[in-house]
Amino acid sequence: MAGKITVIVGPMFSGKTSELLSFIEIYHLGRKEYLVFKPTLDTRYGMEAVKSHSGNATKAIPISKPEEILAYIKDTTKAVFVDEIQFLDKSLVEVARGLSDSGIDVFCAGLDMSYLRNPFETSAMMMAIANEVIKKRAVCHVCGEYNATLSYKTRGDGSEIDVGGSEKYIAVCPECYKHLKGEG
Ligand SMILES: [Zn+2]
Repeated sequence: MAGKITVIVGPMFSGKTSELLSFIEIYHLGRKEYLVFKPTLDTRYGMEAVKSHSGNATKAIPISKPEEILAYIKDTTKAVFVDEIQFLDKSLVEVARGLSDSGIDVFCAGLDMSYLRNPFETSAMMMAIANEVIKKRAVCHVCGEYNATLSYKTRGDGSEIDVGGSEKYIAVCPECYKHLKGEG
């Protein structure tokens, strides 16, 4: 039976990694073999941990290319988890499809859009091939409503690929995003 592909997306601080960790817990409790990966670009919490902002963590294998995942797969692997997929190239689509075809469940989490509201290509393509897409929201940093779908960069350079946390980014709702941009 083919594995399921689940993609968790949303802005900064929307609990994507927490959601990923809760799926990992299901396999962990079920004593099923799984592997966790994250791009080497995201070194915020150390090279070998996937950590939520709330502090939960699990060990992860750092990769720079999606193809590297394949070297770790065994006959007994039941699920593969990948965090921060926006930092991986779009060959993740082929890798995920191959894994799912061989019966492995694939769970991916990442930002759907940059702080300029541009879709991240890998996230967008993964959403297209997914069996299930979970779109998370965050609490708007400006108005306090639970409808933040966008990330806004408060400092740093203009780069759309720029790892950071609350020192650089806030989550905002579309309305507050417009005001911040001076468009509203
Ligand atoms: Zn708002």
